[in-house]
Amino acid sequence: MSLSQALSLMPRRALLEGPTPIQRLCRIEDALGSSLNGVRIYAKRDDLMSLGGGGNKLRKLEFLLGDATAAGADTVIATGGRQSNFTRLTAAAAARLGLACELVLAPFVPREGDEYDRNGNVLLDDLFGARIHSLPAGVNSTRFAEERFEELRLAGHIAYMATFGGSSPVGSLGYAACALEIQTQSNDLDIDFAEIVVPNGSSGTQAGLVAGYRALGLDTTRVRSHSVLAPTASAVSTTVEIANAALTLLGSEASLSSNDVNLSGDQLGQGYGVPTPAMVEAVRLMASREGLLLDPVYGGKAFAGLLADISAGRYAAGDAVLFIMTGGIPSLYAYASDFLGANHQPPSKPFLTP
Ligand SMILES: *Cc1c(COP(=O)(O)O)cnc(C)c1O
Repeated sequence: MSLSQALSLMPRRALLEGPTPIQRLCRIEDALGSSLNGVRIYAKRDDLMSLGGGGNKLRKLEFLLGDATAAGADTVIATGGRQSNFTRLTAAAAARLGLACELVLAPFVPREGDEYDRNGNVLLDDLFGARIHSLPAGVNSTRFAEERFEELRLAGHIAYMATFGGSSPVGSLGYAACALEIQTQSNDLDIDFAEIVVPNGSSGTQAGLVAGYRALGLDTTRVRSHSVLAPTASAVSTTVEIANAALTLLGSEASLSSNDVNLSGDQLGQGYGVPTPAMVEAVRLMASREGLLLDPVYGGKAFAGLLADISAGRYAAGDAVLFIMTGGIPSLYAYASDFLGANHQPPSKPFLTP
């Protein structure tokens, strides 16, 4: 059975408008000058989806909420950090599909204050109508979600649990479908991408892509990730585990080992959600040269990794690399002080007189 047939058998709710575009980043190429080494940089715009501000979690939610609907659920429970993009998009998708939504938010990142606790994704979770359970440090969010699940059951509801970034094997199928989409676009554009570059947080994005590439009989190490959450060895083993479970769901006999996963831990810095100077520089470069936004937790660190790889000569002249822009833009507003500093003034540019 082909990957496309296997995917068509899985319950799915449509949340995207169609394939997301692939665009060349010519202005960044120009800015890199001789350190570009003749590499062509392309972006797949998974930040460009109309629902809820868009981002990679919507691809996972197509399959997660398909599963929820098939189970007759009337409520979705999602867990995440306070500035989780996954919980924000679960709330938006639930609003669109007419499901109730409860979010269990925990302080996974060592930050506090109004900027972090009330702006960005937290603001949007509320606007999308989710019921928010904001837990203090030290309370186990998975256990809290399970207790809430049980309470809802006793009250006659059917709840569906979507935890940890939506990176269950079912959720990762969204990126197995994306692997197929990229291959189709790559054939149409006649570009053979040397590598496809993504952030790795809860690992479902890379796992789904890798499962998709394996199901298509292609080399899975073309998918290169930069870990933004777990240390290298544990990020690799989580990715392998989810990918193998996804292959099983797809009815494939194939299985992967850690050698099939291409992952770098160089951009993690002090850990999940903690800014690095290279991230700040990458976000500023993308914004000021292309007018496009990266987020500070995932895309900024992964793009910094791609820039470091390019200048270290990882790619040959003429190679094309595809960076997946995974969204997460609302969390920029929760990190304003890392970009602006305490006394930041906008740069003064003289007005041009005609
Ligand atoms: C969650 C997220 C990722 C990482 O995806 P995982 O499947 O968790 O590895 C990347 N970028 C953004 C913006 C995200 O919200």
